[in-house]
Amino acid sequence: MVDIIDLHFQNEPEIIASYVLRGPKGVALIETGPGSTVEHLLRGLMRLGIAKEEITDILLTHIHLDHAGAAGYMARLTGATVHVHHVGAPHMINPTKLLASAKRIYGDQMDSLWGEFLAVPAEQVHVLQDGDIIDAAGIPIQAIDTPGHAYHHMAYWLDGLCFTGDIAAVRLPGYDHIRLPTPPPEFHLQLWKESIEKLRSLHPDAIAPTHFGSYEDVDAHFDQVLDKLDTLTNYLRQRALAGDSPEQMMADLPGWLADQARREGVAPEGVHRYEVVVPSYMNVTGVLRYFRKVEGIDLAAA
Ligand SMILES: [Zn+2]
Repeated sequence: MVDIIDLHFQNEPEIIASYVLRGPKGVALIETGPGSTVEHLLRGLMRLGIAKEEITDILLTHIHLDHAGAAGYMARLTGATVHVHHVGAPHMINPTKLLASAKRIYGDQMDSLWGEFLAVPAEQVHVLQDGDIIDAAGIPIQAIDTPGHAYHHMAYWLDGLCFTGDIAAVRLPGYDHIRLPTPPPEFHLQLWKESIEKLRSLHPDAIAPTHFGSYEDVDAHFDQVLDKLDTLTNYLRQRALAGDSPEQMMADLPGWLADQARREGVAPEGVHRYEVVVPSYMNVTGVLRYFRKVEGIDLAAA
C-alpha cells in the first residue's frame, strides 16, 4: 500500500523521500519534498500510474523546505488538502517569514537548493492537533505531535508503520548509522528525547524517516537517536564552555561526524550523502542557539 518516490535531491540517490499511499478514495502523499525536485516527484507519480487528479491529500511532517517546499505547487496542481501542524499551518498560507528565515541560513544557495516555494491556498489547509485522525484518501492516519527537531512537527501513524519525518533523525538505506538534523531555530534536546519516548511507547512495527526508507529495528534505532543527541550536544557544549568559537566548531564538526560515520561502517560515498542531508554547520548553529536560549550558556558569537 505504501510506495516511495526518490526525489534525487542534489542528484543524489535516496536522500529525500515522498511516500505515496493509495486509498479507497484517492491517493495521499506524505511529504512533497522541495520545489527543486518537483520534476522527480511528478515523474515518480507517473511511473506509479497516478494521475494528478487522484491526489486528494498531502500530509506534511513539518514545514521545512526539504519536506514541504513543493506543497503549494502540488496543492494548486491537484486541489488536494494539505494537512499540517497547527503551528506550521500559517506559514504555509503566508510563507514570508519562513522564506526570510531560510534565506538567512542558505543565502545565495537558496534557489539552487530549494527551488520555488508557493503558498498553499488557505481553503486547502487542514490544521492538525496532536492525536487527530486524518482521513487520507480514505485511509485513517493519526497525527502525533513530536517536537524537538521543530516545534511544529507531526509524525504520522498508519497501522503500526510510523512516518517519522525528521524526529527519528536521518538514516540512509544500507546503514545503521544515524545522523541528527539539529537546525536553528527550534532544535530542542529535551523535547526531542520526549518525542522519541512517546513514539517508542506506541511500539511501531517499522519507522519510515523522510531521509530515507523504512526500518524495522525500531528500538535500536531509537536508542541510537537518544545516544547521538547526548554525544553531539555534549561535544558541542564542551567546546562552547571551553570558549571555542562557532567558526572553530563549524570547521571541526564535518571531520568529527565523518569519523563517527566511518567507525559505524559508512562508506565514503555514504559519508558524503549524510552531509548533503544534514550540513554540519547547521548542527552547530542549531545546537548553539539551543544552548543560548534554553540552557542559558552564554556564547558571545553564537
Ligand atoms: Zn528534513
